[in-house]
Amino acid sequence: MFILNQQIHKCRNHPERKAHNICHNCKSYFCSDCLDEGAIFYYCKEEECQLKLNEEIYYSTNPVFCPKCMEDTTSETTNNLVSINGFGFVLGGKSNICPICNSYIQNKYFALFFIPIFKIGEYRIKNISVNYKISGSNKQFISRKVKKPKE
Ligand SMILES: [Zn+2]
Ligand SMILES: [Zn+2]
Ligand SMILES: [Zn+2]
Repeated sequence: MFILNQQIHKCRNHPERKAHNICHNCKSYFCSDCLDEGAIFYYCKEEECQLKLNEEIYYSTNPVFCPKCMEDTTSETTNNLVSINGFGFVLGGKSNICPICNSYIQNKYFALFFIPIFKIGEYRIKNISVNYKISGSNKQFISRKVKKPKE
C-alpha cells in the first residue's frame, strides 16, 4: 500500500488527526481508527464503503467471478493446458484486469516447442487464493471463455 504525505491530509472525522490513508470508495482521507483494511485497499466506516470492503474481501478469497465478468464470458473453460515438451496449449498475455473480482484476460495458444503458433481464444482467468485450495486439487485458477464481440 502506498503511504500518503501525512503532513498535508487530515482525517475527515478528526480534523486534529493526520490522515493514515484514503478510503478506496469515497476517496476521503481518514486516520487509522476510521479505516478498515481490505485485501488490497482501505475503506472507511460509511455503510456504502463497508459494502465495498466486504465485496473486495469476498472476491479476493472466493474463486468466483463478479457479475460483469460472468456476463462477458461463457461457461467454457481453458480445459487442461497439457503441454508435453513444449508441445500443446499455453496461456499468454495479461490484460483487462477487473477492478472488482481481480480476474484478467489471457490468450490461449497452441504452442510448438514452447513457441505460441496460433491463438485459440481469449479467456478470463482468476487465480485461486491460497486460502481456498480445494484439497487434492492442484488447480491454480478458474477460467471462462470471453464472448466474441458483437458485430
Ligand atoms: Zn469511504
Ligand atoms: Zn479519524
Ligand atoms: Zn470481474
